[in-house]
Amino acid sequence: MAAPSLAGKPRKVIPKILAVIHADGCTGCEACLEVCPVDCIYKVPGEEHPTLQTFCDIDLDRCIGCKHCAQVCPWDAIDMVDTIDVAYHVAVKGGPPQYLDEQWDALVDQAQRNAEGLLAKKK
Ligand code: SF4
Ligand code: SF4
Repeated sequence: MAAPSLAGKPRKVIPKILAVIHADGCTGCEACLEVCPVDCIYKVPGEEHPTLQTFCDIDLDRCIGCKHCAQVCPWDAIDMVDTIDVAYHVAVKGGPPQYLDEQWDALVDQAQRNAEGLLAKKK
């Protein structure tokens, strides 16, 4: 019997490691997207930026740190990083300046929230 799908279900704990895609090394091949058990990888830039080269990004509020994506990426564009350092890794992950400029606060704030959430649990 197939394992129950975790897609769309809320994450119960903040993992110790999270996945970060280096946008400059990502070709948008979607191999990672197909293996993510929680469907937290998405294509960007999408409809808002149709002229930019496609790559993938990760919803860090849903990533469970399972490493499946990093294991299948043919271009080694995904790093599993310590959650407490994830905001730094997100800040230097590269990608089209237009996307980064517009998404900077959302992406880095989300990463920082995950780091702080993990630290708060350790206290
Ligand atoms: S580590 Fe697992 S949950 Fe996180 S993005 Fe990769 S495949 Fe998805
Ligand atoms: S598997 Fe790697 S190259 Fe392909 S979309 Fe995912 S991060 Fe990008």
